Amino acid sequence: MRTFISTEEAWEVIRDSLPAPVPEMVPLSEVLGRMVLDEVISKEAVPPFANSAMDGFAVVSEDLGPSGGALKVIGEVRAGAWPEIGVRPGTCMQIMTGAPMPQGADAVVPVEWTNLAGDEVGIDRGVESGRHVRPAGQDLEIGDVVLARGELVGASELSALVTGGLSEVSVGKRPAVAVISTGDELVSPGVPMGPGQIRNSNGPALAARVLEAGGTVAGEYHATDTKEDILRVIRQAMKADVMVFSGGVSMGKYDLVQEALEETGFRPLFWKVKQRPGKPLAFGLLDGRPVFGLPGNPVSTALCFDQYVRPALALMQGGAARRRPRWQARIGGAFPKPPGLHVFARGVAVSVGPQLVVRPAGAQGSNISMSLVRANCIVHLPADWTEAEAGRTVEIEFV
Ligand code: AMP
Ligand code: MG
Repeated sequence: MRTFISTEEAWEVIRDSLPAPVPEMVPLSEVLGRMVLDEVISKEAVPPFANSAMDGFAVVSEDLGPSGGALKVIGEVRAGAWPEIGVRPGTCMQIMTGAPMPQGADAVVPVEWTNLAGDEVGIDRGVESGRHVRPAGQDLEIGDVVLARGELVGASELSALVTGGLSEVSVGKRPAVAVISTGDELVSPGVPMGPGQIRNSNGPALAARVLEAGGTVAGEYHATDTKEDILRVIRQAMKADVMVFSGGVSMGKYDLVQEALEETGFRPLFWKVKQRPGKPLAFGLLDGRPVFGLPGNPVSTALCFDQYVRPALALMQGGAARRRPRWQARIGGAFPKPPGLHVFARGVAVSVGPQLVVRPAGAQGSNISMSLVRANCIVHLPADWTEAEAGRTVEIEFV
């Protein structure tokens, strides 16, 4: 087992040991928040036919001079109807936005430029060919790529799938994640607290993070700090695709998660990463199932999930991106910087003129969960920096 490795190495070990995405064909009604496993190709042209971009008159553009002219109106086309007749020189048809262009017409004069009297329309100015006409396939042609492999489906992507003529699509199955909080001191929300007890905030927060990351919660468990109780919960959690522990992976006398796991056929792959918070992060496989041991301090738990578990769940679903986009910012107020550790600091970034300036989002202790609420970004302070003083340029990711 590797120990005290860099953040990059930790990620590589995780990435290289993840199970492949499991394909699942789902109807579009279930595709929101999923990641497409293959490139999706359009089956239909968008728009399917040339149509009018305006309410007005479909004309032969050559009929009109620079100051317009007068044309005979031979009928109308509305959205959803198909024009039975064509437009010949000297004539035009009234047309609505989205209605198919009649044969012979090559431009649309907006209604605002016209004066209709009986079956004759006076037009104030000319139009060039193609004006206010939306050609077939302007948005998507048959065979165009609608979504790239691994793309996450939001409302806009869903819209594109519908217009591209798809009705179902292959996505990665949502990993079922067991969330296991360990600690004698933990009490659930709403339950009165005894002496020495604290709220179990990691359990509900991790379950929420799993859902945000596209997974499902296979169960939210609590184990006390005994090997027997941890083993009891591990047995229940075996139905899950992934296990995420919080607490019990540090150096304390009652940090027994790894000891319990060792009795189950667990294969540890690393323990301890050169990072703050979250140095005691542990990772390994149990019957091919990724198992994450996140340190229990709420900020450590949150950031280890965000930096390792979230991207792992994305890859397991066939998602493409590990990283959020990073931005360069100038440090506006010094951050604590232990030497030799990569720091995931909580920051507040604002733009000052053309520049981003980032300051600490309050105290940086791994127990200060309010720093996560106040922060709008994670600030990456590289392991080889000995100081993170004001004026220095740093990479941030907005969260
Ligand atoms: P541990 O990693 O078990 O040594 O715990 C480190 C710190 O995090 C201790 O102060 C614990 O009380 C706290 N902690 C552990 N688990 C949780 C949890 N589920 N919710 C809130 N705090 C926790
Ligand atoms: Mg503990």
